[in-house]
Amino acid sequence: MDLVYRSTRNGEETASASEAILKGLTSDGGLFVPDTIPKLGIELGKLADMSYQEIAYAVMKEFLTDFTEEELKDCIKNAYDDKFDTEEIAPMVKAGDAYYLELFHGATIAFKDMALSILPYLLVTAAKKNHVENEIVILTATSGDTGKAALAGFADVPGTKIIVFYPKSGVSPIQERQMITQEGENTYVIGIRGNFDDAQTGVKKMFANEELGSKMQEAGYQFSSANSINIGRLVPQIVYYVKAYGDLLKNGALKEGEPMNVVVPTGNFGNILASFYAKQMGIPIGKFICASNQNKVLFDFFQTGSYDRRREFYVTSSPSMDILISSNLERLIYRIAGNDPKQCAAFMQALTTEGAYTISEEMKDQLSEFYGGYATEEETAEKIKDVYEKEHYVIDTHTAVAAAVYDQYVEETGDKTPAVIASTASPYKFARSVMEAVGSEQEDASDFELVDELHEISGTEIPKAVEDIRTAAILHDTVCEVDEMEPEVKKILGI
Ligand SMILES: *Cc1c(COP(=O)(O)O)cnc(C)c1O
Repeated sequence: MDLVYRSTRNGEETASASEAILKGLTSDGGLFVPDTIPKLGIELGKLADMSYQEIAYAVMKEFLTDFTEEELKDCIKNAYDDKFDTEEIAPMVKAGDAYYLELFHGATIAFKDMALSILPYLLVTAAKKNHVENEIVILTATSGDTGKAALAGFADVPGTKIIVFYPKSGVSPIQERQMITQEGENTYVIGIRGNFDDAQTGVKKMFANEELGSKMQEAGYQFSSANSINIGRLVPQIVYYVKAYGDLLKNGALKEGEPMNVVVPTGNFGNILASFYAKQMGIPIGKFICASNQNKVLFDFFQTGSYDRRREFYVTSSPSMDILISSNLERLIYRIAGNDPKQCAAFMQALTTEGAYTISEEMKDQLSEFYGGYATEEETAEKIKDVYEKEHYVIDTHTAVAAAVYDQYVEETGDKTPAVIASTASPYKFARSVMEAVGSEQEDASDFELVDELHEISGTEIPKAVEDIRTAAILHDTVCEVDEMEPEVKKILGI
C-alpha cells in the first residue's frame, strides 16, 4: 500500500509521494506530511556495515513508496557520487567530547547538498510518473546555502527552470559569489532588498496565487519548490542520522539500542525535523537539541510554548540560521495537535495575521524530547577558537552555534549520552568570521586571502567549490524590492 501524504491545514487534500514532491506546498499553503512515519525495515546492528547509498535506499523506499526500486536506486546512484569529495559522503569526526557529523562534503560545501543533490532526480522521476508535460519552475527563497545547492542541482536539467531569491545584504560574500556566478541556461538569481523571511513569504504567496497559477498553466509551466518544506528534501535528510547511528555502533561509542543525542544548528527546522523522523523510524535518539543564534525565536518557543515572530531581526555570522519563521515547525505543530489540520491551520493563520501563537499545555508536554538553546555572537566565536586551540579542528559558525549550545546543555543537565553535532557547513564558506574568531591578524584581507590563511592554519584542503569561484565571471546581477518578486518571475517566464 502506498503511503499517503496529507496537508497540515486541510484533511481533504492528499497526495502520493511523487505528487507531494512535484507540488512542494499544498494548495492551501500547508505542508505535506506522511499519514504515518514508517519503520526502518533493518536491524540496527546491520547499519554499521552499510554504505551511505544502501542506507539511503533503506530509508527512502519506506517514504517514497510510489517510486520503483530501480527508479530510487538510480536517483541515489546519480546523487551520491563523486560530486562528494569523500566516499563516506557524511563522515563523522570526534573532537573533544562530541561527534561532528560532517554534512558539507558535497558540491556547494553546505549540508543542503545532502538533499539537493538528489531532489532534481526525484523531481524529474516524479514528473515522468505523473505524466507532467509542463516545464517545472523551481521557485526558491534562500538564506544563503539552499540557493547555491539548488542551482547546482538543477542547472541545465532538461524540463526545469530555477529561480532563486536571496536577501541582498543577508548572506556571506562567498555565499553570494557562489550564486551570482552560477552557470546554466535555466538558472536565475535575484537579490531582494529584504531579509530571508521576506523572500520566503514572497515565494509562498506566489505558490498560493491562483491567478498566477493559471497563467503559468496556460504557458506550459508549473511551480515546484526546492525549499526544505518539500518532502523530497526532508526524506533524504533522515538518511544521515541513520548513518550516524551506524557509525557510533561501529566505533563502539554505543551498543545496539542505546540512544544518541543530536544537536542541530537550526533555522527553518528542516534538519532537526529529519532527526525527529529518524527516531520515529526506530533510531534510538534521546534528546533533540535545537540550537539557535541570536534570532532565538525557537529557543523562546521551547521555553514558553509561544511562537512570536514580532521581534527584531539580527544579521549574524551564521546567516543560514537568520530566520524568524521556521516553516518546518508546522509539521511538528500538526503532530502535537494530534494530527488535527484545523488546529494547525488556526495557529498558522494567527502567525500570519497576528505574528504569534501559543500552543496548549497538552501540546507543550509532548515536546519534552526537545531542548532549545541559543548562542550569542561572542559565544559562537569563542567556541570556534576553543575547538581550534584544543582539538586543532576548525568548525564553521553554524556548527559552532550548535557546539556552544551543546556545552550549555551538558552543563545544565549532566547528560553524557554520546552526542552527534550536525556540522552543516565547511569553515571555508564562512572564512572571514571563522578567521576572525581564531584570531587572524589580517584586518584588511579579502575573503580569498582569508581562505588561504584558513588553509594554512588548518592543514585542510581548499574545497573545489571555493577554488572555482575565485575567478568566475558574475552572471547574475538583478536586484529588486520585495513587492517586485512576482513581476520578476513573470518577466523571466514571459507571462
Ligand atoms: C540551512 C542551514 C542551516 C539550518 O537548517 P534548517 O534545516 O533550515 O534548520 C544551518 N546551517 C547551515 C550551514 C545551513 O545552510
